[in-house]
Amino acid sequence: MEESEVTTVITGGRALVGPNLEPEDEATVVIGDEVILDVGPASDVETPPGAMHVDATGFTMLPGFIDSHVHIGLADPIEVVGGGVTTVRDLAWSPREIWTASTESARANYRGPEILAAGQMITVPNGYPLRATWAPEHTGRAVRSVAEAREAVDEQADSGACIIKVALNSSAGPTLGAATLDAIVEAARARGLRVTGHVYGLDELQKALDAGMDELAHMLMSPESIPAATVKQMVNQSVTVVPTLSCFFDGDQTIAVDNLRAFLDAGGRFIYGTDLGNEGPRPGIDPREVDALARAGVTATDIVASATARAADYLDLTDRGALEPGRYADVAAVLWAPGGEPMELTQVGMVWRRGRRIR
Ligand SMILES: [Zn+2]
Repeated sequence: MEESEVTTVITGGRALVGPNLEPEDEATVVIGDEVILDVGPASDVETPPGAMHVDATGFTMLPGFIDSHVHIGLADPIEVVGGGVTTVRDLAWSPREIWTASTESARANYRGPEILAAGQMITVPNGYPLRATWAPEHTGRAVRSVAEAREAVDEQADSGACIIKVALNSSAGPTLGAATLDAIVEAARARGLRVTGHVYGLDELQKALDAGMDELAHMLMSPESIPAATVKQMVNQSVTVVPTLSCFFDGDQTIAVDNLRAFLDAGGRFIYGTDLGNEGPRPGIDPREVDALARAGVTATDIVASATARAADYLDLTDRGALEPGRYADVAAVLWAPGGEPMELTQVGMVWRRGRRIR
């Protein structure tokens, strides 16, 4: 009998149950083949005969984290999943490598997080990330015209992209013009895809908003405070921010934290993402990201929501993101307890990925 066919019963710990992450002090989680069979208060959950028991005393079971900004080619997949991150969204890599990795990661017994991907980052000749040291050849896709921009979007969509990524990085060369960006957004919409961007500079941010871009792949990358009127426009246009505060340093990080706080105070939505692979973030539930989010005023429970139920909802992943019967048994047992310090979320003791014990 394969390990996956054994029912596992986790008892003795707490859990954040269901899409609303309701805290349960004495929880039982029953894991079958790939999915959660039952979860709830120990008194309500029946233990199937022949099940394997795991004692989670002292731990809180969370849904596995979704990191919505990584470059998985620069990380070790087993370290990522062992650290409690069971799904990642790769925001630009060489197509030759990323689509193979993505396909492989969809298998239930893959020893890493499931990898969703954007494919290539659309830019202009000599633009970012064509000369970026972290990026292998073909991570960027330069377009010279509106027609080429549409073609580039279709290529990513045909390959299986879950989102279209663009570069608007005025610190590293020329950037996409407004007409080209409009065409990219329109072409992405035609394929049912959102558009996210690496945005440096307030002018580039305004261009992104005017084009109707859906998402910032980082909080604004330049060390500038976003004016209140711009924050308001971001919120009004339902722009989602993937903060990646972990890849900002020192004073730049303080500005990014302040920008995020202002955006959240105005009613903005963020989902968890670290830019894993670049300098800063560590594999797994990332201490630098959690610490910076907490400094932006985000509670521990909302950090969990941003990386689980809210991210799954935003990414249309109805099969994961919550401890709920029928969803994937992606589970991270952490030493944090409701009311505790956010940093305790990074103390990961046990991990299951689609019902397979990883750690
Ligand atoms: Zn990145």
